[in-house]
Amino acid sequence: MSKANVPARAEGGRPHRITLLPGDGIGPEVVDATLRVVEATGVPIAWERFDEIGESALRAHGTPLPGEVIESIQRNGIALKGPVTTPVGKGFKSINVQLRQKLDLYANVRPARTLAGVPSRFRDVDLVVIRENTEGLYSGMETYDERLEIADATARLTREGCERIVRYCFEYARANAYGRVTLVHKANILKVTSGMFLRLGEAIASEYPDIKFDDRIIDNMCMQLVTVPERYECIVTTNLFGDILSDLAAGLVGGLGVVAGANVGDHTAVFEAVHGSAPDIAGTNVANPTALIRSAEMMLRHLDEKAAADAIARALEDTFATPECLTKDLGGNCSTSRFADAVAARVSEHALA
Ligand code: NAD
Repeated sequence: MSKANVPARAEGGRPHRITLLPGDGIGPEVVDATLRVVEATGVPIAWERFDEIGESALRAHGTPLPGEVIESIQRNGIALKGPVTTPVGKGFKSINVQLRQKLDLYANVRPARTLAGVPSRFRDVDLVVIRENTEGLYSGMETYDERLEIADATARLTREGCERIVRYCFEYARANAYGRVTLVHKANILKVTSGMFLRLGEAIASEYPDIKFDDRIIDNMCMQLVTVPERYECIVTTNLFGDILSDLAAGLVGGLGVVAGANVGDHTAVFEAVHGSAPDIAGTNVANPTALIRSAEMMLRHLDEKAAADAIARALEDTFATPECLTKDLGGNCSTSRFADAVAARVSEHALA
């Protein structure tokens, strides 16, 4: 992850100030579990917590994304966020899309790595999907002509947007010792938009001769990922393709319950799991909090709290080595809170070691 604008380290006992958005659905459950694990690292953190966001904020404050939430994230430069429900086909614009656009969090970073002990279809997957987060079909430019009954959506890409996401991906590859970047597009059909993304991507790639570069058409990429995912390393793509590919990649390594994510801009980073608010299991204490715990691990690395992040990574590995600690999505019957207790106990051991 780019370290260009890392918030100041907690020094002399001063805590990191971090905005906390528990979200809704399973959000508060996985956030509580994650807080227990982060607390066990001993890293001093002062959380600025906002419980109302989305539907609850709309009811309480007349807006789904209150200004004070944005101001807090801008002030702190960093946030940890649970999922937020978006009404389907009607209602307010997605909070996630709004946050990404308002804070210019242009890079969505979603590593999909096989974790020992987590049941999955593939071994040795270690790839990261880097998705452009603010443009493309998610630009929010949709119109409906009632008379003609025609719906349109504009997939706007800008030169700046394309160049900075591809450059971010190459820098990420270098910083994290990956040797290959694959650009994913649909330039055979979308010759202007996807064509521009490919052309600009190829030009940026020539600045990084130390990293192999190739490209794939999105449909072929899907087939490749479900057959030979171990061949891929860093994948960079536009917003919609990246949204779909990152859920697909999650499925390769154990599902949505275990895959972390970060939304990163030049001044701000918001860490959140790939999964949504999972209304089908909300409030039942069965959600797997691993995805958000791993997002918090990414957040601690971003804050240069390497020892704490390593302690969480090792604690998760140890916990997954114990079959009775698997949550329901992974075929076990361990509850959210019991899983969190097991990880937190191991974090304390590693942090003290
Ligand atoms: P989802 O990710 O919420 O759920 C998909 C499936 O995965 C469900 O069966 C769910 O039970 C399961 N699942 C998800 N997370 C899990 C976990 N941690 N442990 C165990 N099982 C888990 O996707 P959806 O149902 O398509 O979306 C529900 C809502 O979430 C929608 O309103 C959507 O807009 C929103 N959403 C929010 C975000 C976000 O806030 N970043 C991301 C995606 C979707």
